[in-house]
Amino acid sequence: MDEFRYISYAQEVIFAPGALARLREAVEQRGWQRVMLCTSHAMRTGGWVSKLKSILGEKLVAIFDHIQPHVQDVQVHETLTLAEENHVDAIIGIGGGSPIGMAKAVGFQLRLPIIAIPTTYAGSEMTPVYGITHTDENGPRKVTVSDPKIVPSLVMYDPELTLDLPATLTASTGINAMAHCIEALYSKTRNPLSSAAAVVGVRHIHNALFNCFQDGKNMEARTGMLLGSHLAGFSLASVAMGLHHGICHVLGGTANVPHGIANSIILPHAIRFNAGATASQLIPAAEVMEISLNGPNPKGVIEAMVEQIYKLIGSMDLPQRLRDAGVAESDLSHLAQIAFQNRTVQNNPKPITDVSQIEQLLAEAW
Ligand code: NAD
Repeated sequence: MDEFRYISYAQEVIFAPGALARLREAVEQRGWQRVMLCTSHAMRTGGWVSKLKSILGEKLVAIFDHIQPHVQDVQVHETLTLAEENHVDAIIGIGGGSPIGMAKAVGFQLRLPIIAIPTTYAGSEMTPVYGITHTDENGPRKVTVSDPKIVPSLVMYDPELTLDLPATLTASTGINAMAHCIEALYSKTRNPLSSAAAVVGVRHIHNALFNCFQDGKNMEARTGMLLGSHLAGFSLASVAMGLHHGICHVLGGTANVPHGIANSIILPHAIRFNAGATASQLIPAAEVMEISLNGPNPKGVIEAMVEQIYKLIGSMDLPQRLRDAGVAESDLSHLAQIAFQNRTVQNNPKPITDVSQIEQLLAEAW
């Protein structure tokens, strides 16, 4: 890595069991008076919306609590209207990547400060990007917006918020965090900090993910996994992702595959596709995954890594084929065409020069 360039962001990050109780203090310190909450139904049924009401008291003036996956354009309009009607001065996204994405979309458009409190391992809280799913005559399509002002200024990590995250979401969003580390390591725009964070992220995820899946109430594993996803999000924030993430966005926006599930299906195929161009960058990750480095060659080590990740995904009962995630074989060519035009796909370390390369990967994943 002889040359690098990256943007770093001004964020306050608080990581602590029970951190949520400090939210009011953080809001008061910043002088915010009228705060809005964006979240999903599961957070209300889990009792977190009432908890936030009692923590924030009169400062919480609006709640939008039924955000759907993949940030739908119709819901963005509704949330924007609610924020404007209530004259809010800060916006909180609590939940997975979708409510946090919504808070980012609305906060960015209204020039409001954004607070992110993640309850999955998707990592959006650390990044200057959001995606909105637009629907038009060509069908649904996810469009991403990127700007340094999108980065949440306050991020609160509280492992207690993740204790009730269901096993399948734990597994799938945990693999999403693993994918952030992997794509950061071989990113064309990687830098010393993103690579260092990604390797430590892989170590925490490797140590904690399966334990969280087996026993969601294991606080030590939950803390390790949230730390891994923070490091994954940190590395993701300053580099360009590649083929894997580009395809996952298309599968989410166009075929409505949940983001974590798309990650679980595509990751082994994407690592294998890139292995010839990226093996040396992934060796440190293989090492912290306790894979023997005495293999025949770096590509062999990466193949062992792919097999270990594939096995981990299978052991957590996640779908491993696109057909099991509701994708029809007849849609593969259309999905490949959209992915071929995707900017993230075009940032892949191994050049994607022909749509047939993506078609072949999707066929293998189907
Ligand atoms: P999600 O936010 O759509 O949530 C999935 C489900 O998990 C929802 O039903 C939600 O209610 C439930 N849930 C969340 N936390 C829970 C908890 N603690 N207990 C019980 N249920 C809970 O899914 P996600 O995988 O977290 O995020 C995916 C979205 O985020 C996608 O749209 C993806 O594109 C986006 N994303 C963006 C970035 C970025 O940097 N901009 C990064 C990663 C993901």
